[in-house]
Amino acid sequence: MNEARKPPSGARRPPAQSNFIRTSIEADLASGKHAARGWGGRPGAAAVHAGAAPDPARIRTRFPPEPNGYLHIGHAKSICLNFGLALEYGGACHMRFDDTNPEKEEQEYVDSIVEAVKWLGFDWGTRLYYASDYFDFMYEAAEYLIGAKHAYVDSLSAEQMRALRGTLTEPGKVSPYRDRTADENLKLFRQMRDGKFAEGEHVLRAKIDMASPNINLRDPAIYRVRKAAHHRTGDKWCVYPMYTYAHPIEDALERITHSLCTLEFEDQRPFYDWLLERLADGGMLARPLPQQIEFARLNLTYVVLSKRKLIQLVAEGHVGGWDDPRMPTLAGARRRGYTAEGFRLFAERIGVAKADSWIEYSMLEECMRDVLNESAQRRIAVLDPVRLVIDNYPAQREEECRAPNHPQKPELGRRAVPFARELWIEREDFTESPPKGYFRLFPGNKVRLRYGYVVECTGCEKNAQGHVIAVHCNYDPDTRSGTPGADKVKVKGNIHWLSARHAHPAEVRLYDRLFKVPYPGRSSPLPAGERPGVREDGDEHSWLGDLNPDSKRIITAYLESSLCDAAPEERFQFERHGYFVADRVDSKRRAPVFNRAVTLRDSWTK
Ligand code: ATP
Ligand code: MG
Repeated sequence: MNEARKPPSGARRPPAQSNFIRTSIEADLASGKHAARGWGGRPGAAAVHAGAAPDPARIRTRFPPEPNGYLHIGHAKSICLNFGLALEYGGACHMRFDDTNPEKEEQEYVDSIVEAVKWLGFDWGTRLYYASDYFDFMYEAAEYLIGAKHAYVDSLSAEQMRALRGTLTEPGKVSPYRDRTADENLKLFRQMRDGKFAEGEHVLRAKIDMASPNINLRDPAIYRVRKAAHHRTGDKWCVYPMYTYAHPIEDALERITHSLCTLEFEDQRPFYDWLLERLADGGMLARPLPQQIEFARLNLTYVVLSKRKLIQLVAEGHVGGWDDPRMPTLAGARRRGYTAEGFRLFAERIGVAKADSWIEYSMLEECMRDVLNESAQRRIAVLDPVRLVIDNYPAQREEECRAPNHPQKPELGRRAVPFARELWIEREDFTESPPKGYFRLFPGNKVRLRYGYVVECTGCEKNAQGHVIAVHCNYDPDTRSGTPGADKVKVKGNIHWLSARHAHPAEVRLYDRLFKVPYPGRSSPLPAGERPGVREDGDEHSWLGDLNPDSKRIITAYLESSLCDAAPEERFQFERHGYFVADRVDSKRRAPVFNRAVTLRDSWTK
């Protein structure tokens, strides 16, 4: 097959699975619900921004991270979903920073998020937005709601408000301030904006229904006084919108068609719709309005994904930083040697569902193996070396064996691997007393030195402590791989090796899972009675106690010399060991440092 006709590298993937989100998008496309239009606010509304120009996108999704941490594997699911669907249906996906909270955002997080989404292979073009871009409009919309008697200023304390809110089984009670006139509310709200009140003195609440069975509809707060500078709007505002009020408006202004979010927002959907309907009725927003669709968040075994916990791991020094290769962040996974393609494959394999479930970490590893198996060239490394001496091989002699760079891709060619009298082999490839089924080196047994000769083991040397320091053997000169008759001697074992004279010692980091149990901090997936959609927060016992003490082991290994030229982030399969990457931070040409991304086989599943 010529290059041009080859299927894209994702050809191993199953065809896109249908799901409730795709079904909804296809129905909307068929009915023509969303004609392409620009800005979703009324003409002349405040804060019309550059991205509002009409464009021909057929659907519009968004990825709305809050810049208060690094992105993790759960976010990758949401990113692949939002950007992936936009690509698939000829749409656009917006990148939007949810910076409604003035105190939380940090530039380091913004930068890391931009980098991670790009690394995953997605591009938002010019569609980069901030929630704070819309503060003017949000304020104007709040004044409109006041005028239309859909919002009022409440002056109860937070505690009093809580007391009146009711419970899941009892309705709430109305606030004594609920019937203020529109004029009075407007005056108070403007005074809030102008900094006339302290934080907590007044809040603006939507006027919906204190008896609603859905607590989110019991007059939720939509604006609060906050005397804090915002990293983008500075000191302009003394009032800030609540996230639940801001988010639907952001979606509507950007003309998002399908607003995909995780299940814990399901109970917010009635408010999302209530708010947008009121604003559209008042001519503040254009129809059709965005539709919120919930899907199950990713829960992954052997990791924690709560930002609070990730921050704690970093702050308390349990890991080396946000990009520690053991962290479930995208920065960590990248440094570990995981690939963006592997994440996209993972997102497709896990699909989307309406019910919470746990995904086995091994499934993610399998995706990485599948991708790396295709893309990574093979090299030789001896991780736990012991010397093998070929007694009948001349001391000064040297020859070149030819090793394929990829067994399934002959077009990638072969490379020379020097062979000599003294080699490094893996310590576990020799034993004096072989268990049943052991086919590697033991006295009297023959093995093939992969890409080289068949050798017969004659014994070993030990030091005073009885530790094996060298293994001895003789080779059969007629068995060189690739020469006629090379396989006339049949052997069951086939081991890798490196010429001791030519091999390069280098630091290799053997990473393993960060936690030693599938559900850190708890004994079962979800505690009894916990509702779907809730996070992993709320431990049964200390989750830090479940950290895997063997998650990082640093060794000095011997590498084949060609690995000394590895570029940072270049990935290889070390034969018989697994997939390794040249560390993007610490590895230098001629001084390589490798990280183990994933072993060749799963050693965790029983
Ligand atoms: P928090 O809101 O506590 O800061 P978060 O994990 O929701 O944490 P956001 O930055 O708000 O972080 O998330 C951005 C987007 O990623 C949201 O749309 C959110 O629903 C989605 N997301 C977050 N965690 C997961 C997950 N585990 N699986 C799927 N999507 C997720
Ligand atoms: Mg969130």
